[in-house]
Amino acid sequence: MPDHDVDLFIIGAGSGGVRAARIASNYGARVMIAEEYRVGGTCVIRGCVPKKLLVYASRFSAEFEDAAGYGWSVPETTFHWPTLIANKDREIARLEAAYVSTLERYKVELVRSRAVLEDAHTVRLATGARVRAETILMATGGAPYHGAQIAGLEHVISSNEAFHLKQLPKRILIQGGGYIAVEFAGIFSGLGSQVTLVYRGDNILRGFDDDVREHLRKEMEQRGIKVITRQTVAAVEKVDHGYDVELSDNEQVMADLVMFATGRKPNVHGLGLEAVGVKLGVTGGIAVDEFSHTSVPNIYAVGDVTNRVNLTPVAIREGHAFADTVYGGKPTPVDHTYVPTAVFSEPEIGVVGLTEAQARERFAIVDVYKTSFRPMKATLAGRDTRCFMKLLVDGKTNRVVGCHIVGADAGELIQIVGVAVRMGATKADFDATMAVHPTAAEELVTMREKAMSYGRAAAE
Ligand SMILES: Cc1cc2nc3c(=O)[nH]c(=O)nc-3n(C[C@H](O)[C@H](O)[C@H](O)COP(=O)(O)OP(=O)(O)OC[C@H]3O[C@@H](n4cnc5c(N)ncnc54)[C@H](O)[C@@H]3O)c2cc1C
Repeated sequence: MPDHDVDLFIIGAGSGGVRAARIASNYGARVMIAEEYRVGGTCVIRGCVPKKLLVYASRFSAEFEDAAGYGWSVPETTFHWPTLIANKDREIARLEAAYVSTLERYKVELVRSRAVLEDAHTVRLATGARVRAETILMATGGAPYHGAQIAGLEHVISSNEAFHLKQLPKRILIQGGGYIAVEFAGIFSGLGSQVTLVYRGDNILRGFDDDVREHLRKEMEQRGIKVITRQTVAAVEKVDHGYDVELSDNEQVMADLVMFATGRKPNVHGLGLEAVGVKLGVTGGIAVDEFSHTSVPNIYAVGDVTNRVNLTPVAIREGHAFADTVYGGKPTPVDHTYVPTAVFSEPEIGVVGLTEAQARERFAIVDVYKTSFRPMKATLAGRDTRCFMKLLVDGKTNRVVGCHIVGADAGELIQIVGVAVRMGATKADFDATMAVHPTAAEELVTMREKAMSYGRAAAE
């Protein structure tokens, strides 16, 4: 009789949990995974994937408009939200089934239940059944967080509900300035809603490069999105035709739907973590070392529940590295530097590496190269939009330490730039690379003039 029912019990079948399950099982571990909602987790069910499908839908309106300058006459278009949602739901169901069959193929036992820790080696399921495990992996992800209690908070939706609306709101107020807020602002605006974005800070996208923040805000406003900063939603009142939203400066905004995208919190509550001695870190996630090891010897944690870099590819990498470390005999730390990322706003953002402010803090000399130009496609279309690109270079080594792009396909571009930056490419390497013409991306290898160069007197 084995000491434990399973070698590994994973709580949460999202990006991190499923990858860890598959790899650990491949190494020969007996693995059980519990999921309380739907297999695939946030990314597949109510995050990256459905969001990107809505982003694609939202971009057709501009394409129809732009077509005229290229000689097309597009008959009057109409948009049917229920069709989009039904098609999206079908695709998500297909992906969920694919995840389930992957688990089956890898002989991972799936339990469709909430699971919590009873002690360091025992997991309790919703039925009260107990499973003994040698090792436990917490992969419970995160959840939307609405912030302060305000009057009428019960009327407010989060991104979770936005994917299941019965109809497209004519007017939507979105509170938040992070990537999810600006992405949904672009989605609703592109689909024809009147969008007001309310954010308490000075400018949207805190943590991004200041030039990027400024550029995106301008572009969003140009597309008709009303951006209100330094305000918060103070109260939401249900009235006859929608909601009367009161802002902190007493301004009233009428909306048919109010959505908060005010941040996400790691799912750490009610899991029995404290009783077992799993410590939390300063950001509220489960504290882990570079091998995703928690403060309890046989318990690990990966993905958003650790609140490190909350992105799907990072959760997947952490889950994989955990399995390599514990079951593959290959201790594998995860490197969280130079993680390329995209914001599927309109226009899109792609970023890898440091912001200008971070680079100036870290390096004695920082050279800044930037360009803003009208993309070729916009010329005949007559669209008033600009593309922005910026490279940050460590002036001592000539290494490119940051790349920021705002413009069409920035997410696609930054994946490849990410390889170069990670490999330690210098500005000279960028310059020596032949341009691909005519593209927007060629600007990345043809920026010759420094926009600025910062030096610190007391540099090392
Ligand atoms: C709207 C939105 C858009 C996003 N867009 C992007 C994007 O474009 N690109 C990107 O890289 N990332 C994006 N993300 C982030 C990405 O979805 C997460 O970083 C990723 O899903 C984290 O994976 P995870 O495995 O840590 O957690 P999750 O995928 O959240 O999985 C955790 C799972 O655990 C389950 N669970 C929780 N508690 C229990 C319990 N006690 N018992 C059983 N099951 C439990 C949950 O139901 C969930 O299925 C987006 C997120 C959101 C919300």
